[in-house]
Amino acid sequence: MNIQEILSRAGLKVTHQRALVLEALIRRKNHPCVEELYADLKMQVHGLSKATLYNILEQFYEKGIVEKISTIDGKLRYDFKDQPHHHIHNIETGQIIDFYDETLSNILKEYFNTKQINNYEIIDVKVEIKGKPIKM
Ligand SMILES: [Zn+2]
Repeated sequence: MNIQEILSRAGLKVTHQRALVLEALIRRKNHPCVEELYADLKMQVHGLSKATLYNILEQFYEKGIVEKISTIDGKLRYDFKDQPHHHIHNIETGQIIDFYDETLSNILKEYFNTKQINNYEIIDVKVEIKGKPIKM
């Protein structure tokens, strides 16, 4: 799926700004915060302000294209929603690494299919793992 398709399928009008923001987010693959994306885009997108960028990211979030991640450094980061995955937070660097494990996802899905949580319908379960690299 290309950028235009992702936007229009989500019900968003395809604008030059939105396309460039989504492209930059997908290209980075490292869960950038608004500041990092702004640094990537400010030269490329004429007249882009940090507030506009933030609003575009919020629209993406509302339409389910991106996820928001709270990190151990307290920054709000954005993640393009592609395949379901979990996150490993490196407690030494604050880096977030994608962790794809279908077995884990299936175990969680099965668990919450049988387990009822009062008055809640479970939509998604994500494991946020904290760790540090093992020094050899
Ligand atoms: Zn991720």
